[in-house]
Amino acid sequence: MATYTPMIQQYLQIKKNYQDAFMFFRLGDFYELFFDDAIKASQELEITLTGRAGGTDEKIPMCGVPYHSASNYIEQLVERGYKVAICEQTEDPAQAKGVVKREVVQLITPGTQMEGKTIQDKQNSYIASITELNEKQYGLTWIDLTTGEGNALLFNGKTDDAMLKLISTGTKEIVVSSEFSTGVIEAFQKNFSITFSVEDNSVVAEEFDNVVKPVSSSLLIYSVGRLLNYLSKTQKRSLTHLQPISVINLNEYLNMDMYTMRNLELIEAQRSKGRQGTLSWLLDETKTAMGGRLLKKWIQRPLMNKDEIESRLTVVELLMENYFVREDLKENLKGVYDLERLAGKVSFGNVNARDLLQLQRSLNNIPAVQLAISSIDHPIIHELVSNIDPCEDIVKLLEESINEEAPLSVKEGNIIKDGYHHTLDEYRFVSKNGKKWMMELEQREREITGIKSLKIGYNRIFGYFIEVTRSNLSQLPDGRYERKQTLANAERFITEELKEKETLILEAEEKMIGLEYELFISIREQVKLHLARLQKLAQIISKIDVLQSFASVSEKNNYKRPQFTEKRVYDVTEGRHPVVEKVLNGQEYIPNDTILDENTHQYLITGPNMAGKSTYMRQVALISIMAQIGCFVPAETATLPIFDQIFTRIGAADDLISGQSTFMVEMLEAKYAITNATERSLILFDEIGRGTSTYDGMALAQAMIEYIHNEIGAKTLFSTHYHELTVLADQLQNLKNVHVAAKEQDGKVLFLHKIYEGAADKSYGIHVAQLAELPESVIERAKELLDELEANNNGQKDKTSGHAIEENKEVVIESKVTTYKDEPIIIENETKASKEPEEQLSFFDQ
Ligand code: ADP
Repeated sequence: MATYTPMIQQYLQIKKNYQDAFMFFRLGDFYELFFDDAIKASQELEITLTGRAGGTDEKIPMCGVPYHSASNYIEQLVERGYKVAICEQTEDPAQAKGVVKREVVQLITPGTQMEGKTIQDKQNSYIASITELNEKQYGLTWIDLTTGEGNALLFNGKTDDAMLKLISTGTKEIVVSSEFSTGVIEAFQKNFSITFSVEDNSVVAEEFDNVVKPVSSSLLIYSVGRLLNYLSKTQKRSLTHLQPISVINLNEYLNMDMYTMRNLELIEAQRSKGRQGTLSWLLDETKTAMGGRLLKKWIQRPLMNKDEIESRLTVVELLMENYFVREDLKENLKGVYDLERLAGKVSFGNVNARDLLQLQRSLNNIPAVQLAISSIDHPIIHELVSNIDPCEDIVKLLEESINEEAPLSVKEGNIIKDGYHHTLDEYRFVSKNGKKWMMELEQREREITGIKSLKIGYNRIFGYFIEVTRSNLSQLPDGRYERKQTLANAERFITEELKEKETLILEAEEKMIGLEYELFISIREQVKLHLARLQKLAQIISKIDVLQSFASVSEKNNYKRPQFTEKRVYDVTEGRHPVVEKVLNGQEYIPNDTILDENTHQYLITGPNMAGKSTYMRQVALISIMAQIGCFVPAETATLPIFDQIFTRIGAADDLISGQSTFMVEMLEAKYAITNATERSLILFDEIGRGTSTYDGMALAQAMIEYIHNEIGAKTLFSTHYHELTVLADQLQNLKNVHVAAKEQDGKVLFLHKIYEGAADKSYGIHVAQLAELPESVIERAKELLDELEANNNGQKDKTSGHAIEENKEVVIESKVTTYKDEPIIIENETKASKEPEEQLSFFDQ
């Protein structure tokens, strides 16, 4: 190291503490990167790699970006998951003895970015920490630095569960200690940008007293502390906008794991990974960014407290009934900017005058929002309105102080209004009048000297001067004029009087800008004192926004208010899948009933592929989720239990954890459901077991159905292609067969998407293959083979169909006429047990 120049030695000394980050090292008007950082950054950012002499024989690799356009490059790196340490000059180079002092003033990481493309209005940007407290217990904390919102959670489970919980928070970066095994760390790395922190985290800096106050568990403090200490260490600035951590008690919410949220496409669509086609997309008619974010949180965490749900539903109902109030509300909400993020910027110190103007305009809309909603006369509304604090004092401060035409930069003046500050007004007066005075002086000097071309000018080096052309020099009286500068054909002079005025004007202008900046900072600090009020206001506004959104969507789509029952009854008539209904492109959505009463906990759903089985299953779950977040539901009537958890196994397994086979993931998900579900849960299992051999799969499926039926009693929808399983209805008294109807017409299959009681007659697999336009010869051959197989099978079902059939030799094949839109259309063969004829009574038959 000794051979490097002092500056490079300084660089290496600082870089030592930021090994995992690109270090942007300030050198004059540039940020420079050196050594490996330079090589890598030049590739990532496509900038030229050069070299710099640094004391050694070989040049040091170097690349750089101009200071004023650095943010763009920093963003690019951070968006790709890298960290960037900003190393600034911390003393005036003019005053420095030796190498200018430098320090890292901020570490920008994927989870601590405050601005840029990745910070989207309606999305939170979280950074999390996870701590393994003792075996199988975890502490998880996640904070959005842009809004100041923080959450923490203690939970039991395995590392897989921890990973799923983390993914579901939508976190970009995690801070962990090295206690996790290499395998777990690798899995973390697959999903997040990761930082290790080895500090003692039982102590949290005093500045965060308020933030950690709600955290009573000493175990959880480790996780909260780790994250807060990390933020404080990397951001090195005021974090007063961090709100008290909200400690989440999982027992208060309907729990869904990550797979379930994905399967049900609550926030992210499975195929496109986008928002289109998700529940959050459908329900989002929010007008503010804050409302958009809250909506997502509500969807991820539906409530279990009946009173809270009912109170949301009541507001939705009131807003649905009052169309004009709703429209008025929407109009005024539109003008409310992101109060939470503005508050974050104020605290962070990167707010400019335009941001404060946005804050002012936003606050200006609050009284109108208040007025609109308070025109509804209802106790719940009164309470909501009474909590709104329009922050009039802040509005007044900003209205009086900030110039409506303020520029982006806070260091060029023109920010503060006339009349706000006496001294500033004086400076402005001097500056403005000084110019007028100069013009008058020019006139006077012309008259005194008789030189018409005499003029007064200004340049940065010499200041103000009187300019006289060479040919007129002789007309100048002696003594009064002091020579300042000689040009080719003119001379420039200064007078005592001019000097005095110049000092006054220049001083005023210089001080004016400095004073404006000072005033701006003091206004920002005054606003900062009220961050908690602004954040509370943001919370109420976002709540009103989400509720108006529910009302708008419910009205538009003809949703109905759900009722809740203490009984274990899920009774829905004419239910629809809210999203499929929306995207059917003019086709009619066929509504279906679901009546899982106190004696029916399981539906075994059969029916051909494409008939609508998984749509139906999802519909059942979505109706409950919508109800428990306080929205009306897509059904004619809905009497629902309050579910504690929803588990799903639908569609292609999505391996989030580590290279496990699809079948293994399917089994893991099934296990997760079976070990965690209660009689208050909902389980959706779509074709479980199909990933292995028929017998294996069927045996597993049956064993699971029996287990859920006998040991758990959760409401369960189980779709299957194993028709043999349908006889289980005879053994399991709480299980009922239903099927999605299809009919054959001119050799083709017609899907009716209608659920009927009883089992389906056949699979129509070949028909679906035909729809997919497989070559005709393949279809024909498949038909032949099917005929053969069916012929061979005839009469010996007990041998080939497995366990279920063997125990139910009394199975008969019945014919049944059913109807579609009042026309008898299907003659179906229905496999069912011959006993209990009353079971043929069907509430589904139309
Ligand atoms: P399955 O799970 O039985 O293979 P899906 O649930 O995937 O079938 O449904 C296939 C398609 O049928 C869906 O994409 C949807 O377009 C349509 N569909 C399903 N249910 C209905 C319904 N109730 N009304 C109208 N169309 C439906």
